[in-house]
Amino acid sequence: MIELQNVHKVYAGKEKSVAALTGINLKVEQGDIFGVIGFSGAGKSTLIRTINFLERPSSGHVIVDNKELGSLTSKQLREARKRIGMIFQNFNLLDSKTVFKNVAIPLILNGTDKNQIAQRVHELLTFVGLEDKADSYPSELSGGQKQRVGIARALATNPSVLLCDEATSALDPQTTASILQLLERINRQYNITILIITHEMHVIKNICNRVAVMENGEIIEQGNVLDVFGNPQAMTTKNFVSTVIHDEVPPIIWTVSATHRGIAAFSNSNLLGIALKSHYYSILPKNLMCKSIYYLLPPQRCKARRSTTSLLNCAEQSHRLNKPIIL
Ligand code: ADP
Repeated sequence: MIELQNVHKVYAGKEKSVAALTGINLKVEQGDIFGVIGFSGAGKSTLIRTINFLERPSSGHVIVDNKELGSLTSKQLREARKRIGMIFQNFNLLDSKTVFKNVAIPLILNGTDKNQIAQRVHELLTFVGLEDKADSYPSELSGGQKQRVGIARALATNPSVLLCDEATSALDPQTTASILQLLERINRQYNITILIITHEMHVIKNICNRVAVMENGEIIEQGNVLDVFGNPQAMTTKNFVSTVIHDEVPPIIWTVSATHRGIAAFSNSNLLGIALKSHYYSILPKNLMCKSIYYLLPPQRCKARRSTTSLLNCAEQSHRLNKPIIL
């Protein structure tokens, strides 16, 4: 579906050049929601922009839908790009145009018939939940609504791929969640392959099935999300894992919270502990996952499943000592 083969990108500067991508190999399968995560400056934006040739690679091959973009004529490239939608962190809407016009732009540029445009835009605005905003201007919309317009516009030409460039980074957590749900629906309902670049671990955790971790223009780890984050190898990947774990410590009181499939979680006001049979934190049921992970223990440290009594004892002891106990 999308394949990058040994892609390099060097930005030539007056004084020195910057190697933003150094030998990227990446394969995104049809129907994937593929995340690329990395800290600022890792090369994520450059990477995503090479996939629609907004940025031409200095060397290497970019193949989308079986077409090697570097070998296409300008006209063929314009056609190929219609199958690659893109949304942006800052939405990239035209402030002087209505929501209707913003969504219609790709269709107007294509020379689509007026009635068809009206029908398609209506369809798209209904899909993203903005059917009543057709005549509004971007300045009258919230950030989440602006991104929905961006999404509707990206879908106008029926793409097979949707590229998301930090699409939720400017949004609050609740709006982020609703946009991620919308992306998931697009993936499921239209079977559109999605590639997301982000520096936010929860984005990957919430909707991606595969992930690549980037650092210094290279992919340092990639694979199934469960495998990569369940057993992170590189320090950067470990850092990303720790960001979500600490984010999710809630200030609530639990006793033994759950025992399920070899997992036991317990907590009190000072502590959230978890015993995992497996080191895959993501196999936790969703409600448990967001409430109870504090320690992600490697499997060798979680011996057998603990009895409820022994977990309660641990919880009590920890409460008494006022510090967490790691099983
Ligand atoms: P990220 O999206 O992960 O923050 P970028 O792809 O934006 O990373 O940048 C990767 C590297 O390439 C950085 O060192 C950045 O300064 C450099 N870079 C990005 N765009 C340009 C450009 N147009 N000209 C020169 N250097 C650039």
